[in-house]
Amino acid sequence: MRVGIVSDIHANLAAFQAVLADMGAVDTLWCLGDLVGYGPDPNECIALLRRHEHICIVGNHDQAAIGNLDISEFNAAAAISARWTSQALTPESLAYLQSLPERLVWGDFTLAHGSPREPVWEYILDESGAAAGFAYFDTGACLVGHTHCPALYRLSSVNRVTGTTPGAGDCFILGDDRIIANPGGVGQPRDGDPRAAYALLDTQSRVLEWRRVAYPIQTTQDRMREAALPQSLIDRLAYGW
Ligand code: ZN
Repeated sequence: MRVGIVSDIHANLAAFQAVLADMGAVDTLWCLGDLVGYGPDPNECIALLRRHEHICIVGNHDQAAIGNLDISEFNAAAAISARWTSQALTPESLAYLQSLPERLVWGDFTLAHGSPREPVWEYILDESGAAAGFAYFDTGACLVGHTHCPALYRLSSVNRVTGTTPGAGDCFILGDDRIIANPGGVGQPRDGDPRAAYALLDTQSRVLEWRRVAYPIQTTQDRMREAALPQSLIDRLAYGW
C-alpha cells in the first residue's frame, strides 16, 4: 500500500493541493492533525482531505478551533487565527473536526499529532524527547507532526536514540529499530525551507521517503490578507519559519 503522510496542513489550500499533485496516486492519506489554524482556507482543506481515502487525528489547532482547548497558551497571532478559524468553520467542518481521535493505530504504525505520550500538546524536539516517547506506544513506528520540521528518531537494540533531519528525497527502510518519524509540515514549514513537506510510505517495501514541493506561497498570502489574518503569519510562509 502506498500512503501519503501529511501533517500540519494549517488551512493552506495551495500547499495541500501541491502536495497531493506531487505525491501522485496513493491508496490512502494519513493526516497527523492541525488541518486548520493559521491559514485562510480551513473548510476547503477539510473538504479536500475528505475527498480522499484517509485517516486523520486531531491536533492542538483543530481542538482550539472547535473550542476544546484553552487558547490562553497560544501566542497572540495564533490566538487571533484560532478565533478567526472558529468563526469560519461550517457546521460540516466543525462536526468533522469533533469526530477526530487523539491517536490511531494502523498495523505497525501509531499516529499522534505531538507525541505518543501527550498526543495533542507535547513537542518532540530532540533525542531526549523522543527517548521519553518510545515507552508510550507498542508499534514499531510512531508518526508525529506538530513541530513542522522533518525528523527521524531511531531506537537501537541497546536503547540508544539517534536523531536525524531527513532532507528532500531521503529514504529510510523500516527494519528492526523502532522509530518516531515526522514528515514536516505541509502548510507552515518551520525548518527554513518554505516548500511544503510531506512523506510517502510503501507498506510492502517498508520504505519511508521525505519529500518537499514548492507551491504558490503568494496565493495563500493573498487569501490571508483578504481574511485580515496577522501579518506575521503571512510573512513567515515566505521564510519557512
Ligand atoms: Zn501545527
